[in-house]
This record gives sequence, structure tokens and C-alpha cells, in this order.
Amino acid sequence: MKTTTHGGWWPQRIGWRLALGFGVLVALMLVALAQAIFQIHTITGVTQRFATGDMQRLLRVQALSLQTEGVGNALIRLINAPRDSRVREYADVDERNRRIDGIVESLAHDLRDADQEENLRRLVECRAAYAEAFIATADEIEADNPKAAWQLLNDRVNPALKTMLLESNALLQRERQRIETQLEEAQQLFDRVALLVACLSVLAVALAIWLGVRTTRSVVGPLAQLEVAAQRIAEGDYTSRVPTTRTQEVDRVGQALNTMTDAVAQRERDIVHLAFHDPLTGLPNRTALLKSVLDTDQSANTLALMDLARLKAINETLGYGTGDTLIQQAAQRASQALQDATADGLIGPHPVVARLSGGTFAAVFCAPDRAAVEALRERIERAMAEPVHCSGHSVDLSLTYGLADSGDLCESGKPLSVDTLLRNAEVALHSAKRSAIGFAWHSEAQEAARLSHLSLLSDLRQAVATSQLQMWLQPKFSLATGQAVGAEALVRWQHPTRGFVSPAEFVPFAEQAGYITMVTQWMLEQALRTLAAWAPTHPELSIAVNVSTRDLQHKGFAERVARLIEASGVPAKRLRLEITESGLMDDPQHSVALLHALREIGTPLSIDDFGTGYSSLAYLQKLPVSELKIDRSFIDKLDQSPGTQKLVRAMTEMGHGLDLMVTAEGVETEAERKTITRLGCDVIQGYLTSRPLHGDKLQAWFDALPPAQSVF
Ligand code: C2E
Ligand code: CA
Ligand code: CA
Repeated sequence: MKTTTHGGWWPQRIGWRLALGFGVLVALMLVALAQAIFQIHTITGVTQRFATGDMQRLLRVQALSLQTEGVGNALIRLINAPRDSRVREYADVDERNRRIDGIVESLAHDLRDADQEENLRRLVECRAAYAEAFIATADEIEADNPKAAWQLLNDRVNPALKTMLLESNALLQRERQRIETQLEEAQQLFDRVALLVACLSVLAVALAIWLGVRTTRSVVGPLAQLEVAAQRIAEGDYTSRVPTTRTQEVDRVGQALNTMTDAVAQRERDIVHLAFHDPLTGLPNRTALLKSVLDTDQSANTLALMDLARLKAINETLGYGTGDTLIQQAAQRASQALQDATADGLIGPHPVVARLSGGTFAAVFCAPDRAAVEALRERIERAMAEPVHCSGHSVDLSLTYGLADSGDLCESGKPLSVDTLLRNAEVALHSAKRSAIGFAWHSEAQEAARLSHLSLLSDLRQAVATSQLQMWLQPKFSLATGQAVGAEALVRWQHPTRGFVSPAEFVPFAEQAGYITMVTQWMLEQALRTLAAWAPTHPELSIAVNVSTRDLQHKGFAERVARLIEASGVPAKRLRLEITESGLMDDPQHSVALLHALREIGTPLSIDDFGTGYSSLAYLQKLPVSELKIDRSFIDKLDQSPGTQKLVRAMTEMGHGLDLMVTAEGVETEAERKTITRLGCDVIQGYLTSRPLHGDKLQAWFDALPPAQSVF
């Protein structure tokens, strides 16, 4: 931008410019005023001199002429006057002579030029001649010789008086001339003063106009620049700066505008950052993940979903602060592991790690093959090995992985879209959560398995009808007394061609297809039949049947259960129903109503797999349940994990607080048993005390039972 080329004297501040402009203006006005006062003073002096000196003199000279004329007449009256009135006439003549003398006397001190002095000298001579002639004339009058007196008057007095009058008139003429000259000079002086004051005023006006224009332009120009800059900022251009001008005030505003622009730009960056980043971890969010992969790395072929296990339970029991710390730690460690893997060439450059929700993270990258991805997963596992210490707790970081790739190498072909990869990884994560190994690939095999499950499902209907299903019972024992309190009923399927099919394999699909209700019905019948058989010797034992969400969704499920119980003749409280925590959370409001209906028929309810779902404490309080079954993932190696022990203790205390019986599932070692006992659990269920039993083995176990009292 062009800068103005002012001289060095031109001030850089508008304030100084205005002060300079007005200062010069005021100074000029003062000079004009001083000039005017000075000149008026001079004019007053001239006028005064004129009034007191020149006019006085003129009047005196006029009076001299008048007296000179008057004395001639007075002498005529004296000559003609009778003797007795002569004294008055003498006095008149004397008076006039005295006045003439007085005027001549005063003029002698007051005359200004040589000509006038010459006139006066001649006038004085004539006066002397007149005085002599007057005395001679007076003598003739006293001698009563009027003729001689007239003679003297005409011959001597009148010529002397005439000469005096001439001289006096000459003086008068001269004085008039002088006054005229002086008046002319005064007029010239007035004209000069007027011209000077006019010039000064015109100069001041011109200067005022010049200063006004210059100051205005020097302010308006930079202000226009500011306006343009502000317009640019409004249009979102934060890069260009307001240029410096030679005006300090405007520069200060420009500086403020620049600062404001920086602040606005920073705030805009923050907002964009917030829109695309997760505030807790600083990682990109789901939107940013999809966007950044599209923007930067078209060759990404693998997506790993990582889910922080048991986050909900940790939040509920150890507080949200601890949960947040875990999320941050997991984010940090996973990001670092990915960076290291990139540096070591295990995976391609620019991996993107994002936090999708809660404890779920996604990593998108390019990997040469699945072996590399699994090596990466192991690295992440190692990075997570160290427990997180947070507000006095030591908590394990455990991740479940859902892995998906586009099945191609980076270089070849067009990889799957991130969207698809994400969906596939979600499917894989889902199945990983069901399996014990903690990770799963989304694969063709998985798809095939899904399809084979579908064919399996069509067999299931047959299975129920042709007694391919079996009910196995896994005993549960009181930790306080060591006595059996009952058993959990677990379904087994002996497929005619496939052999044994694990419930973990078909139950989820049977649930999806709605076939599970047949299984539940069958299991309920079996359980009630067994309870009826046990009643004579061990009426205190109960059997728990697993109920799926699909059962709960069926209208009239509670009535059906009630009818079955009634038909069996078994007390309703001996049949327990287990509902998974996650199942309850699928439709919490409906679940609460249904559980109440079930509770009304007298069947106690248990929350299965507690700690893996997302129920809140407030929600639990509303449920009419009587047992909490802590998920076996918490019990696994519990004795070696102080952090998990704290969780289990908290869950147990919470359960007791709500008057619930607390059962530990999947106890496999003596150490785990000791730990759950110490932590306050009430009931133990697991391979340590008994595997699920069937047929002869079940019968043998039952026969060996000592008579006992139920804890219920
Ligand atoms: P669940 O309800 O949590 O059942 C407990 C599972 O843990 C059983 O597996 C049992 O064999 C296993 N288990 C018991 N003690 C231990 C132990 O000490 N260590 C280990 N590693 N496992 C132990 P199962 O029988 O394979 O059942 C798997 C899941 O299938 C059950 O989990 C339940 O969700 C579902 N399921 C089983 N039977 C039925 C059924 O009749 N109806 C419905 N709806 N679901 C069923
Ligand atoms: Ca169960
Ligand atoms: Ca369970």
C-alpha cells in the first residue's frame, strides 16, 4: 500500500496535527488582533493630536483674525464715543489687544514650520506698529482732536491692522493646509491598517482551509484503508494485515484490528478444531476420521476398532474422572503405538486415530497384510499392559478389537470406503466381544459363518422337536457355607451331523431370528421338570434359566411362565430368570414393566453379565431384581489385578446396598475364589466348583448333596 510522502515536520498524530493547525491559526489571529490594536492606538494618537493641537491652533489663528478685525471697529467706536463713555470703549479695545497678544504669545511656542514663524514675526512687527499708532491715536482722542485721530486711524492704525489681518489669514491658510495634509496622512494610515488586517485575515482563512483539507485528507485516507481492511476481515480473509500509515491514532486502531483478526482467526480455528476433534483426548472424531481419510490417504486399507472394556462399570464405580483418565491413556498409548509402527515400517504412513464414542477408538491405516495388523495389535496390547494409576486406584486397560480390511494390498486396486470398513469392523468388534480372545477380523469366513448359522437356524426348529437339545446344569454354591444353592441351566445342542454346537455359536443368531423363544420355552419346561424331581429331597435348590431380550419382547411372556410354573406344581420362587444387563438396556422402559410383571408371578430375577452393559445405578434401583451376576471377565485373574478388585468390591457393595445377592461367575482358580470371598461376594459359580453337568454326572452330584438350607 502506498504511503503518503509528508515532510518530516508533519506530525504523526491527528491530535498534534489539529493542535498545530489551530495553534498557527490562533497565532495569526493574535497577530492580526495586535496589529489592529496597535494601529487603532496610533490612529487615536493622531486624532488626539489633531483635536488638541492642530484644531486648537487653527481656532486660535481664526480668533486672531477675528480679534484683529474687531479691534479696528472698536477703535472707530472709541473715536466716535462721547467723553463719558470712552472708559468702556477703552476697556473693550484693551481687552481685544490683550487677547491678540495672548494668541500671538501662545502661537509663538506652538508653530511648526519656518513660514509660519516668518508670518508670526511680521505679525509681531505690525502689532508693534499698531501699538504705537494706537497710542498716538488715543492721545489725539484725549486731546479732543477727532480729525487728527481719524487721520492717524486711517494712515497708521488701519494699515497696521490690515497687515496683521493678512499675516493672520496667511497663518490660517497655512494651518488649514497642514491639517488637510495630516488628514490625508491619517487616511492613508487607516487604509494601510485595513489592508494589513485584511491580508492577515485572508492569510488566516487560507491557512485554515489548507490545514482543514490536509488534516481531513490525512485522517480520511487511513480511515478508508481501515474500512477496506475491516471489509476483508468480514469476508474471512485473516491473512492480510492492516498497513501502517503515518497517523498514530489510525495505526493504533489498525493494530487493534490486526489483534482482533488474530483472535477471530484463532477462535475460528478453535471452533473448527472442536467440530472435528474430541475435547477429552484431542483426537479427531468420527466426522474428522471420515473426512481426513478421504482428504489425505486414499490408500488406507485397514480399519481397527478398539473398544475399552468395562468402561461403564468403571465410570459407575470409580467415577467419571477415572473413566476419563482411562480413555485419555488408551488414546495416548494407542496413538503412540501406531506412530511407532509407522516409524518401524510395519504399517504405511499417516495412520489416523480417532475417538468415535465412549471408549471406542478407530485407527485407519495402510497395512501390507493381516500379519502386520496383528503384530500392530500386539504392540498396542503391550502398550496397554501397564495399569493406569488414577486417584488412588490402579486400573487395567483392556481393549477389544474389531478388525477389517479391504482384502487388497495398498498399491493394488481401489480399497473399500472407510464407511464400509467401519461397518465391517463394527461387526467384527461385536463378535470379538462374544469370543474370549478379545479380537476378531471381519472376514469372508465370518460372512460364511453367518450364512452357515442361517442354515443352522433352520435346523434349530427341528432340534427342539426331535430332542437334539439338552439342558446342562452348572451348580452354584454359597461362599459362606459352601453348600449348593442351585444351578444355572445351560443349553446344549447335539447336532446330528455337526456334532456338539456351543450355545455361544447359535444363541446369538437364534436371538436375532426370534427362534430363541422356542429354546427358552423348552429350557423352562426342562428346568421346572427337574425342580419338581428335586423337590422331595432338596426343595431349597433353585434353577436359573437364561431369558433373552426377544422373550421379553413377546407379549404374554410373563403369563406363559406363570402357566408353566402352575402346571409344574413347583413354587415360583424356585425358578430364577437371568436377563443380561445389555439386553435390559436395549429397551429400558419396556424392560422395567416386563420385569415387574415377571416379579409379580413370584419368580426371582437375576442380572446376568453385570458390568458389561451400560446400566446406571439409578436405573438398577428401579429393577425388581434379587441377584447380580458379575461377569466372568471381571473374575478372570482377579487375584492379580488390584484395580479390578476395587471394581468388584464396589459392585458387590452396590449390590448389597440394593439388597441383592451377588454371584461371581466363571471362577476357575482357588486364588480367584479367595479373592471373591474377601471382596464380599455371596455365591460362586464356575469350573472350580463345578462344570456344567448332565445325565449321570448331574445325578451323582445331586445324590451326594447333604441336606441343606437355602440362602434365599
Ligand atoms: P452365561 O449365561 O454367562 O453362562 C455362563 C457361561 O459361562 C456358560 O457357557 C458356562 O459354561 C460358562 N462358564 C461357567 N463357569 C465357567 C468358568 O469357570 N470358566 C469359563 N471360561 N466359563 C465358565 P455356555 O454354556 O457356553 O453359555 C454361553 C452363553 O450362552 C451363556 O452365557 C448364555 O448367555 C448363553 N446361553 C446358554 N444357555 C442358554 C439358554 O438356555 N438360553 C439363552 N437365552 N441363552 C443361553
Ligand atoms: Ca447366564
Ligand atoms: Ca453370565
